[in-house]
Formats: sequence, structure tokens, C-alpha cells
Amino acid sequence: MDIIHLLPDSVANQIAAGEVIQRPASCLKELVENSLDAGAKRIQVIVRDAGRTLLQVIDDGVGMSEMDARLAFERHATSKIREAQDLFSLRTMGFRGEALASICAVAQVEMTTRRAEDETGTLLEIHGSDVVRQEPCSCPVGTNIKVSNLFFNVPVRRKFLKTDQTELRNLLTEFYHIVLVYPKVSFTFVHNDEILLELPAGTEKQRIEAVFGNPKKNVYTSAFVDVHTETDLVSIRGFVVKPENATRKAEQYFFVNGRYMRHPYFLKAVQTAYSGMLVNDYQPSFFIYFDINPEAIDVNIHPTKTEIKFADEQTIFQILMASVREALGKFTLSPQIDFDTTGSIDIPLAQDQPVSRPQVTVDPTYNPFHTRGAVYPDRVPTNWESLYEGLSQTRDLETSTSPEPVIADVDSCPMWQYAGKYILLPGATGLVLINQHRAHAAVLYAQFLEQLSHLQGAKQQLLFPEVISLPSDEMVLLEHMLADLRAIGFELDQLSPDSYSIQSIPAQLSNQSALPVLQQIIQQVRERGADTQQEWREQIALSLAQSAAIPYGKTLTEPEMRDLVKRLVLLPSYRRMADGKTIVSVLTDEEINKRF
Ligand code: ADP
Ligand code: MG
Repeated sequence: MDIIHLLPDSVANQIAAGEVIQRPASCLKELVENSLDAGAKRIQVIVRDAGRTLLQVIDDGVGMSEMDARLAFERHATSKIREAQDLFSLRTMGFRGEALASICAVAQVEMTTRRAEDETGTLLEIHGSDVVRQEPCSCPVGTNIKVSNLFFNVPVRRKFLKTDQTELRNLLTEFYHIVLVYPKVSFTFVHNDEILLELPAGTEKQRIEAVFGNPKKNVYTSAFVDVHTETDLVSIRGFVVKPENATRKAEQYFFVNGRYMRHPYFLKAVQTAYSGMLVNDYQPSFFIYFDINPEAIDVNIHPTKTEIKFADEQTIFQILMASVREALGKFTLSPQIDFDTTGSIDIPLAQDQPVSRPQVTVDPTYNPFHTRGAVYPDRVPTNWESLYEGLSQTRDLETSTSPEPVIADVDSCPMWQYAGKYILLPGATGLVLINQHRAHAAVLYAQFLEQLSHLQGAKQQLLFPEVISLPSDEMVLLEHMLADLRAIGFELDQLSPDSYSIQSIPAQLSNQSALPVLQQIIQQVRERGADTQQEWREQIALSLAQSAAIPYGKTLTEPEMRDLVKRLVLLPSYRRMADGKTIVSVLTDEEINKRF
């Protein structure tokens, strides 16, 4: 008996669908790209439950004939290429004729479509590749596709989906990638009956403002300068943030021939152009659009990948870096920029610091942890030394699996501050170096986590409430965190769909302005991602702790240092931060002796 047989189409389609449609966001991308390919000028996206229940795209494009409507759902049915070589001159978004076939294999699809020249339109309903209805209908010119219950017949995929917050964020990210290159097309994005984005047709700059800023104020885009370079090889235009307006949170977008792309190498070019201009971990935001002969790039055959190869990457790297530098040099107000500097501003290495006698001034009344209204009890037990009993004195601290270093006698040992950054003290096996900022952050982190689980943070009312307004994807995050933020002392009142006023902040933050702290929390959660409640809380606690912790450069008195070290060593694990960064390091006696 022969054993080879062809898979039924429905099975083959389902398998292939996994390639193209991994999640609601990939489905949205395909549908919106089809609308753009159809010449639509107005595209509405309607989503329910982050795309799980409904993903609908309505366009005013050319529509399809009755025959085309049916063909569109067949695999490799496309109106966009006829021969393999057409691939190289591709200017449309889709080209493989796979998207609709894939979508209808894993969802329930209902489509109405009509061309301008046809009196009646076509209604088509397909459930898991089976056509269940096809009939004439009356509908406006254009196409309206409703994708319901995505993955209804692929339980594994359905289970694989993340929380609604994550999936909605993915949808918005995908949506941004598209709307930022089609400013002349108007878009709306509705989620669960709420309009998250309303983007009128306009210029690129107006589109950027509409997505990330506020079109009425144009504050967002005024922080950018234009980049523009034409060469035989490539044309580069776009906007790069002025160095003084850089933040930790950056929007970084490259587009090539009207498509979003990720390009770590070109990112490096932009970062290099900024070197010496940004402080610490600030990142440049940019929106850079490349135009290049399609033959000079590797047309990305895989629809879900966003990396693109260029024929002449080194040259483009140089052109890009030079044009960003030129743009910054032309417009920036800081005249001290030295374009020959390629290093970045950094905290100087310890050995560059002049060695001065440690200054120990004692102010026994000052307590760095005492903040107005803080209710957190002083938890330092009097017999804390007992915690260290039994610890081996000879353990190799750098590699030990139980790595908390042995600190001799926290109550009475000498302590010095070094370089405005480290607390030095003698340990059982060597000189203990403690990073002051991280140590404090670790202590606060533990506090915040506990407050989050007991919902009992102390808050401090702001005299002048601050206003936070956010792009919609971040608004989604903020809303998800509201309960936890309240629990630790942030009181937020919604002012409009995209803004809140901050009425109070956690007591520990009494010296900070609320806005940057809140923005940082959101940005961190966005970057690192969090799915479970516990992960959310850890992210919130960590950001808050980092914001509230004593900064580098702050001079500490001896009692302050001692208090901090005492609190630190009470933590179950104090060698590293929750994010893995080193808090405590030991310069062993052996290492010290070797130097002499
Ligand atoms: P591709 O976009 O790669 O051609 P798709 O499966 O996405 O493949 O779409 C198949 C065909 O269906 C397209 O080539 C196009 O002719 C037609 N089509 C799909 N969506 C639309 C739309 N919104 N408006 C008009 N035609 C469409
Ligand atoms: Mg397509």
C-alpha cells in the first residue's frame, strides 16, 4: 500500500497559518496591509478583547469582484505578483497570497466587499477554510473583513496567547509600524468600544505627533530635528530627538521603502552619532525613513520578520551616522558638542578619582530613611549580628552559591564613603564595597513589595497635582497597574482618555517629582514585560525603588551609612539586586596582599 498522501487543504492551511498568523497582531498587520495595497484612504480597525474575539478592518479601497473575493482566500492567490522576478521590484506590502488563506484557516471570517464599478457587493463567510455562505449584498465601496474567534480550532495557539494587555500592546505596536509610514491615510483604532487612536491624514510629523504626542500642542515633535540626506545609494530622511530632549524611554523607528524594519547595526550608527551628547542610559528617539532601490535590499520573504539585509551596510552606516550628526550639529543649541568624541559620558572609573582621606562627619540625628508620613516600621532587630553566626570566614565570596559576604560588626566597624558612590568597610575576608544607590534601592524594593502585597503604602498628597499623558499603548499599561499603584500611594484621577492627574505619591518619594517616576515605571514595565500580577508588582517595586534610592554623588554621614548597611544586611539576599546587578563586592585580603 502506498503511504504517501497529500494533506487535505484545510490541514495544510492550518499548518501554514502558524507561519503567518501567530497572534492577533500578525493578523491585524496582514489585514491593514491588504487595505493599503488596495489603495484605501481611510482604514478603521475595530478590536474586541485584544483581538481574541474580534478583529475587524474596514477600508475604502478598490474592493473585489465576486470572483476575486472567493479567490482571495485560496493559498497563493494574489493580485500582486505574477512572476518570481516581480519580487525584486516589490512596492506593495503583501505579495505571497498567503495571508487571507491562513487567517480563514484558523478563524471565522466574514467579508463584504464591493468595487466602485459594481452595483452589488459580495458577502462571504468562511469558517476554518470552509465557505459557509456566499451571496450578493449591498455594501459601500471597499472591503470590510471581520475575523472572529481567532484560533477557535487551534486550542494550542489560543492557549499560547498572552494576557489581553500584552496582546493589545502587540496590536498597537504593529499598528504604529504601519501608521507611521502612511501619514496620508487616516486611521482609527477602537478597542472594546473605546477609541484608542484617531489619526487624521497629514504629514509624517503630524502623524508622529498624533500617535505619541498631542496634535493640539505639538510639543512632542518640537523636540526633534529633521534629518535629510540624498546620495546615489540611499535617501535618508526623518526626525531625530534633540540631545537635550532625550529620555530613558525612547521611540526608535527605522523604515525602509515604506516598511518598518529592525536594524541593530543602523541603530548603532544613530547611537554613535549621539555619543558624548547623552547622559547615562538615555536613548535617542528617532523616526528615520530610508528610500533605496529595492534591488539593493534583500526583500524579506518571510512575512513575520522585520530584519532586512542591505547590500552595502557599511556605507549606509557611515551615511546614516554622518547625517544624524549633521542634523544634530546644525540645530542643537549646545555648542560644546565635539564631533570627534566617540566615547560616551560616563561616571569616571574609580582609579581616575583623586584619592582623598575618607571624610567621616557624624550627624546622629539624621536618618536618610525617615520620610514624612512614612509608616514603615524600623525593622532592624537589636540582635542582628546573630544573623552572621556560623558563616564560614574563608568562603570564596565571588563564586559562592550562598554569596552574602561576612560583614564584621556593622554596629561598630569603621565605614567610609568613596567617590560619592561606594561605602567601604572591613569584612571578614577583605574590604567590602557596597554600592550606595543599589543598596538603598534593594532595601526600598523589599519595602515596596511588601506594601504591594498588603496594600498599605503610605502616601503623600501633592500640593500641585501633576498631569501625566501617555500614548495609548502605555495608557493600557498604566490602567492595568492602577490598583497596584494606588496600593503604594499613587492616587491618580482620570482627566481624559489619555491623561491622568497625579494627586498623591508614595511617601518614600517625597523629594521627587511624580511624573518622571511614573513614566519610568511604565517604560520599564513596557520594556521588560510582565504577565503575572507578581511580575507587575516586582517591576513597579523595582522602578520605584530605583527612583527613590539615594543617588550617586550624595555625601553620606557615618550614621547614614551604618543605617543603610544594617538595613541591607537584613535582606534575605543582599548581594545582588532583583535585576541581577551587584550591590556588594569584596576585595579579598588575598587580592590586596598581592598588590604589595
Ligand atoms: P497578498 O496580499 O499577498 O496578495 P492576501 O492573502 O493578503 O495575499 O490577499 C489575497 C488577495 O486578496 C490580494 O492579492 C488582493 O487582490 C485581495 N485582497 C485582500 N484584501 C483586500 C482588500 N482589503 N481590498 C481589496 N483586495 C484585497
Ligand atoms: Mg496581503
